[in-house]
Amino acid sequence: MTDSATSLHHRVVIAGGGTAGIPVAAALLKADPSLDVAVIEPSRDHYYQPGWTLVGGGDMRAEATRCAEADVMPAKAHWIRDTVAGFDPDANRVDLASGAAVTYDFLVVALGLQLDWGAIDGLKQTLGRNGVTSNYRFDLAPYTHELAQSLKDGDRALFTQPAMPIKCAGAPQKALYLTAATLRKRDVKAEVAFYNQGGAMFGVPAYARELDKVIAGYGATPYFKHSLIAVDGDRREATFDTDDGHVTRGFEMLHVVPPQSAPDVIKHSSLAGDAGWVSVDKNRLTHSRYDNVFALGDCTDTPNAKTMAAIRRQFPVVVAGLRRALGENVSPADDYDGYGACPLTVAHGKVLLAEFRYGGEVVSSFPLDPRKVRRIHWPLKAQFFPWLYWHVMLKGRDWHWPRPKPRPDLSA
Ligand code: FAD
Repeated sequence: MTDSATSLHHRVVIAGGGTAGIPVAAALLKADPSLDVAVIEPSRDHYYQPGWTLVGGGDMRAEATRCAEADVMPAKAHWIRDTVAGFDPDANRVDLASGAAVTYDFLVVALGLQLDWGAIDGLKQTLGRNGVTSNYRFDLAPYTHELAQSLKDGDRALFTQPAMPIKCAGAPQKALYLTAATLRKRDVKAEVAFYNQGGAMFGVPAYARELDKVIAGYGATPYFKHSLIAVDGDRREATFDTDDGHVTRGFEMLHVVPPQSAPDVIKHSSLAGDAGWVSVDKNRLTHSRYDNVFALGDCTDTPNAKTMAAIRRQFPVVVAGLRRALGENVSPADDYDGYGACPLTVAHGKVLLAEFRYGGEVVSSFPLDPRKVRRIHWPLKAQFFPWLYWHVMLKGRDWHWPRPKPRPDLSA
């Protein structure tokens, strides 16, 4: 691994060294250690974000979700520790915050998405205090658990979900379930409510129906078409926009999931489609206008659930496509079929493992009814998936087994 932008041209440039960028770099270099691959990534740390739900529930240590970026960066990658400030795909160039520029033969965009905390009035000032928390930040997830442990009888705990798309659409309600389960364990009778901008508990009806039962089982109230617009931390009040005007609710605990969008640097570039995300072919992950540009992960406009699970299926497609474009004689990978998964932690020790692909089609990796809450899926979420991430996916290894099978009986 080198640590500079001194070489101003690279055969392959990967923008972003997160969940999507690192597996692509690792797999390319595993296939051809002499390939000139650069990764532009400013962060010193690398995170396993799916673990933050468990941290918020008190089921995982925060430190288990973080490691040094240097430890996941492939040894033969050129690590450019800088921030992408602009894309000029017509000139095959990426401009950096330092003022340098890098040109490429092929570009992979993997910048993730942007958390728009500032879109909610008063939120930034009060995050991390006054009972306001979010599992969407490494440093705040432990506060979620602290709050769950400090609530008393009669207190109000509110959970919010913004407009789609967001990363891990199930994470807002997972925070609710684990908090409610902690309260139940402590025998605390608090008022728990879910304020959802959308109109259902989940985008896939077969799972939404089950989750209606889960939230009802906690005695928690779901409010649909409620969009958080302001937080007054000192007064401990949250204001929502609804079809009938604004409503304000008091709270002792407020778990916020902020609105999310494509990173500004993508929105302001010609890589963006209408909604600001990188515009790609949803099956091949090639850019819709620039033949030498690929994109994957949360930053694209593919209509799948923005999850690590999706990236696990996407990165082999990008790597095979790139290697073919580089002139290597490799067979094309299967098309990306929109696979995504969401292990819904409905209680400490219990998971509903929702799997699906494009069109909201239900699929299942196991010969079991995927709608059922199961104890055996908890170790998958708490132990196996983190292991798969750190030791398989980030090494650029394609994990094929088991192949998710369509469940047409559940897809209506
Ligand atoms: P990231 O992993 O966010 O990486 C983006 C990288 O780009 C970062 O390293 C960042 O530093 C870098 N970057 C950003 N801007 C720039 C720039 N201008 N220049 C250079 N570099 C830049 N997924 C699941 O599959 N299952 C789950 O259970 C699950 N639970 C989740 C729970 C929570 C609370 C959260 C937050 C996420 C969860 N996810 C889950 C989603 C999953 O973590 C994301 O989908 C995945 O991490 C996205 O990967 P990415 O590479 O696209 O983005």
